[in-house]
Amino acid sequence: MSFISERVNNLAASATLVMSQKSAELRAAGVDVINMSIGEPDFNTPESIKEAAKEAIAANFSHYSPVPGYLSLREAICEKLVRENGLHYTPAQIVVGNGAKQELCNALLATVNPGDEVVIPVPAWVSYVEMVKLAEGKPVLVYAGVDQDFKITPDQLEAAITERTRVVMFNSPSNPTGSVYTKKELAGIAEVLERHPYVLILADDIYEHINYVGGAPSISQFESLKDRMIVVNGVSKAYAMTGWRIGYLAAPLEIAKACSKLQGQYTSGVSSIAQKAAEAAYRGPQECVEEMRQAFERRRDLIVSLAKEIPGWIVNKPEGAFYLFPEVSSYIGKRNGNQEIKTSGDYVLYLLEEAHVAAVDGDAFCAPGYLRLSYATSEDNIREAMRRIRVASEKLL
Ligand code: PMP
Ligand code: GLU
Repeated sequence: MSFISERVNNLAASATLVMSQKSAELRAAGVDVINMSIGEPDFNTPESIKEAAKEAIAANFSHYSPVPGYLSLREAICEKLVRENGLHYTPAQIVVGNGAKQELCNALLATVNPGDEVVIPVPAWVSYVEMVKLAEGKPVLVYAGVDQDFKITPDQLEAAITERTRVVMFNSPSNPTGSVYTKKELAGIAEVLERHPYVLILADDIYEHINYVGGAPSISQFESLKDRMIVVNGVSKAYAMTGWRIGYLAAPLEIAKACSKLQGQYTSGVSSIAQKAAEAAYRGPQECVEEMRQAFERRRDLIVSLAKEIPGWIVNKPEGAFYLFPEVSSYIGKRNGNQEIKTSGDYVLYLLEEAHVAAVDGDAFCAPGYLRLSYATSEDNIREAMRRIRVASEKLL
């Protein structure tokens, strides 16, 4: 007999976190693993942000904060949304949570009824499908492979929308593919959404600053969709603040209130200290964002050129985020001694054991036959990891 609920039994563990944990364990056991599984900036949080946190402790920001976050932080977020995105929201429309992750989940829990359909372009980040399942919704996957640069077309979206569709999720720059939709491509998507006025749009803009095209447009910028747009973002990626756990959503008032009510019952306002640090991130100097972006761009160029030397890999040129998502199915059916590769998951495990490089199976992103490498690591690590992958792959016959 098990005490575990069906809700949790039906949930997949987060593959990114599992793989990262596995590689940390191997490292603790003395194995020289290069961890390219987890997607997080390898940079430290900028000094001015850390100082703000220290000052917050000294000034006794140690009490419960308002459930949706301090007003001063929500004001700073509203100013950021105007300054960087041309979006006008009031603080009452902002809810700050435990990372963008919690606000994505809140948005789904607050709007999806059992059986409602949620359209997810895939490959998609590991948690989208599982969050929809938690909300008892039905994920409807719309697939775009490397042959279409992992971007869905307006026709594909139109075909996926039914009268049961409640939400369409959208993420550009994308995790795990690094693809960035152009303004024109987004206009095509927006035109479809305009034809379905009862559908909410959940725009995950968390990688907006990490792009190599001079600015990534977002579906959230279409004024015609604003009254049913939920924008999710946060400080994790842009300011190298993954561990501080600050993200937010901006939404129509009714939805923001619902998310706040939900949050008030199961987590309350997030860490007071982290909120003050996030406020400093939004109000302080912004050079750090561009410096990190430039480093990611150099790494992107490096990893793409090295990936092209690996026999059988098919890669796009990712224009944002910090992931490479090669198609690796040419290795399926190959073997090294008595080790046979039957799936991309087997190949990922083989690379961990043989090359000591941790990646994530594409299956976790609803794209079997692919794998994901996070290049948010040093250029030396990237060079060495790709060398090891090439050597190990060449042993597969
Ligand atoms: N969305 C996407 C696409 C992500 O890759 C991540 C990173 N885990 C998140 C949301 C959540 O970020 P966080 O909770 O750290 O703000
Ligand atoms: N976004 C990161 C990733 O995809 C962080 C881990 C997670 O929360 O999934 O690896």
